[in-house]
Amino acid sequence: MGTKQFKAESKRLLDLMINSIYTNKEIFLRELISNGSDAIDKLYYRSLTDKNVNVNKEDLSIELILDKENRMITIKDNGCGMTEEELEKNLGTIAKSGSLSFKSENEKKEDIDIIGQFGVGFYSAFMVASEVIVESKAYGTNEAYIWKSKGVEGYTIEKTEKDSYGTTITLKIKEDTEDEKYSEYLDEYKIMELVKKYSDYIRYPIKMEVEKSKPKEGTDGKEFEKYKEQETLNSMIPLWKRKKSEIKEDEYNNFYKEKFYDYENPAKVIHAGVEGGVSYNTILYIPSHIPFDFYTKEYEKGLQLYSNGVLIMDKCSDLLPDYFSFVKGLVDSPDLSLNISREMLQHDRQLRVIAKNIEKKIKSELLDMLKNKREEYEKVFEVFGTQIKFGVYNDYGMNKDNLKDLLMFYSSTEKKLVTLDEYVQRMKENQKNIYYACGESIDKIDLLPQVEGIKEKGYEILYLTENIDEFVMQVLMEYKEKKVLNICAESVDLDSDEEKENLKKQNEQNKEMFDFMKEAIGNEVQKVRFTHRLKNHPVCLTSEGPISVEMQKVLNSMPNDNNVKAQMVLEINENHPITDKIKKLFENDKETLKDYTKILYSQAKLIEGLNIENPTEISNLICDMLSK
Ligand code: ADP
Repeated sequence: MGTKQFKAESKRLLDLMINSIYTNKEIFLRELISNGSDAIDKLYYRSLTDKNVNVNKEDLSIELILDKENRMITIKDNGCGMTEEELEKNLGTIAKSGSLSFKSENEKKEDIDIIGQFGVGFYSAFMVASEVIVESKAYGTNEAYIWKSKGVEGYTIEKTEKDSYGTTITLKIKEDTEDEKYSEYLDEYKIMELVKKYSDYIRYPIKMEVEKSKPKEGTDGKEFEKYKEQETLNSMIPLWKRKKSEIKEDEYNNFYKEKFYDYENPAKVIHAGVEGGVSYNTILYIPSHIPFDFYTKEYEKGLQLYSNGVLIMDKCSDLLPDYFSFVKGLVDSPDLSLNISREMLQHDRQLRVIAKNIEKKIKSELLDMLKNKREEYEKVFEVFGTQIKFGVYNDYGMNKDNLKDLLMFYSSTEKKLVTLDEYVQRMKENQKNIYYACGESIDKIDLLPQVEGIKEKGYEILYLTENIDEFVMQVLMEYKEKKVLNICAESVDLDSDEEKENLKKQNEQNKEMFDFMKEAIGNEVQKVRFTHRLKNHPVCLTSEGPISVEMQKVLNSMPNDNNVKAQMVLEINENHPITDKIKKLFENDKETLKDYTKILYSQAKLIEGLNIENPTEISNLICDMLSK
């Protein structure tokens, strides 16, 4: 049989592995052991649910064989094995990375990230091996196959003989180089150390013949002789079943990295055990960065689900609400039936109870973090805050009360992220509302004319820079009985009664002028009026109704939805000298007032970050005015 080519992406990954400068090459062992363990899981699960599959639990194991002389290490499992097609499919292509494109093949730094970022699994063998040989026999079949590859050139699959089902992987370890002592992977102690470090919790024994020595008979303990004995190298106790106090941070972290394919330690580990109505153990992790595929449709939320130590589902999505979809981890409960299908799970009462508890637990841990480890929380919020915001917004705000305390926004006075609660605590005595303003960036919001007026009066403003933010505020409506108020859209009641009365009068008296101005700009705005919300600036654009100017921008930037219009209002600062000027023009020179209005409107649009449709006309108008 001829040599077959790897699929293009696999080839590149393989190439990366072979030429890898990744310093953590030792992880190849945990990857192969973990594959073996998964294969045993699969078979064992089948044996519990299918009476035609008979395996003896005691026999399930992974065996490591070292052959120093021939520079070979073998990892042997008696799991489900692979058929010829499966060998082809699973080892000829990368399972996980279908959508991943390697952007810069030459950049070594990125290579490392790629290696760390997803389940490179099997291919990692090529970091240490010059040749990889896989012999496999699928459970319940009579034929075994051997897959061989020396790297990028391709692989071969042929029929072979194999006594028992399962998979045996043999690596021909590379020769040592100046930088890399590959020989250490042929060393018993090194292998024992690696198993302890990365694979201790694997629930099947990982066995290896280990050299020992005992006193030689008849020498009175003066001489020793060497002998070999098979030993189990791992403790086999799942991490989540061990006592919290006895688990080192490193163990949690290594477990996370191995299981959930991350190269960085998690930002937070939550380990909990619950006894009672429904019992379960759980370990939950909050990653410290966005999972690489988080925004792809391949990303599946969910926790691993075990029933008494047996994996029954890899991603049980019902265990996590969407707004915590970034959480990774597992749940093990003795109360769940093994024979449960995905469909049944959704209706499983026990599972729903667990899911509810887990949600509460995540939330309380986050709140605890916010209270006691604020900096760490801020980091988490910077990474996953958008997710939480979507949680507030989605389902018509059904979960807003549950999540609102987790929200953070940038504060104009504190110059950092603050919570709504902190804002309310700091509110001025006479302050009725929580003020916010929206824009592309903190700097841009800071320069908004509306912001200036409110800041001047000493009020704190939340600066909302994310597209979702304003929608969140609209759903939220209030916090601790304080209305949330967009200072650019709604009227901010900061005036004294007298001032208010005065403004009202002014607006009524000049109604005719405003109508004239409105017409001058082609009725593009709903209204023109005076305002007191500005300090030094002459004009601003605000809106009436549910859609603000900022929301119009967001909505129109989305595909299919670009006809949304805010009902805009052109506001003129009543205390600005321009007010007198336009009043006079209305009486004496209406034509010039038209030009003034066009310019003022364009200014307001520019400040809001909106496009001016007729830039040449405006530019000429300004020039005319300058030349007068
Ligand atoms: P992953 O384990 O992340 O899916 P791998 O590249 O490590 O990716 O393995 C690809 C696939 O090959 C696995 O999903 C599994 O189906 C199969 N496989 C690998 N090792 C074994 C094994 N020892 N026994 C049975 N199947 C295996």
